[in-house]
Amino acid sequence: MDAILDIAEEYNLIVVEDACQAHGAKYFSAKDKTWKKAGSVGVAAAFSFYPGKNLGACGEAGAVTTNSEQIARHIKMIRDHGQAKKYYHDVEGYNGRLDALQAGLLQVKLKHLAQWNEQRRARAAFYGQLLAPLSESVILPVEPSWSHGVYHLYVIRTSDREERQAHLSSRSIGTAIHYPIPLHLQKAYRGLGYRAGDFPVAESVAPQILSVPMYAQLQLEQQESVAKAIGDFVASRHSAFVMSAGI
Ligand SMILES: *Cc1c(COP(=O)(O)O)cnc(C)c1O
Repeated sequence: MDAILDIAEEYNLIVVEDACQAHGAKYFSAKDKTWKKAGSVGVAAAFSFYPGKNLGACGEAGAVTTNSEQIARHIKMIRDHGQAKKYYHDVEGYNGRLDALQAGLLQVKLKHLAQWNEQRRARAAFYGQLLAPLSESVILPVEPSWSHGVYHLYVIRTSDREERQAHLSSRSIGTAIHYPIPLHLQKAYRGLGYRAGDFPVAESVAPQILSVPMYAQLQLEQQESVAKAIGDFVASRHSAFVMSAGI
């Protein structure tokens, strides 16, 4: 983020954070010599309270954080049909109001967020131990020293993603892909003129990523089953290779 903020300053750009998976995550700014919470680094940030997020409502919800009075005022208006006060529309807006039921639920769940995040971190560390022996065929997430993640997802990388996902599914282990198509290749952004090859890292990673089960209440035995299923698959692939090589 330090580097991004530097570039933004140099070219007079605005940094808006997508903190939708980062409730409680932290970043160590070497420049300011301090930890900063996700959502407090840029000019403004978006948080999602989609039910599956670290802090999730029981329906649709979200929030914007900002230190700017002006942006706060503007966001409050556009989420409420652009009204500065009832029936006085200063700008064109839409209905993005958070309903009271969702707010009430989120208020209760917010008290547990820090603990749930710690549980997710512990689960991530345990996956790290369980999956370390498979390092030849599975790339695990790494947490750099400047980052304190909250593991909304636990994403592994593997070159045989589809087969591995099918294998886990045959063991009734749910997985998902976050996300299959890089932004610049989405139809919606075709107008920007990017093509395959323009973002080679995103493109090489997209077909390899696989999110394995991750949530605060995940049981250690469940994680062991997931790791075992990932390991089985490696073993069966290996024996198939040995057989096909005629050994
Ligand atoms: C969930 C998510 C969104 C979208 O959030 P909504 O609440 O569905 O609008 C955007 N960005 C990221 C990274 C997300 O994880």
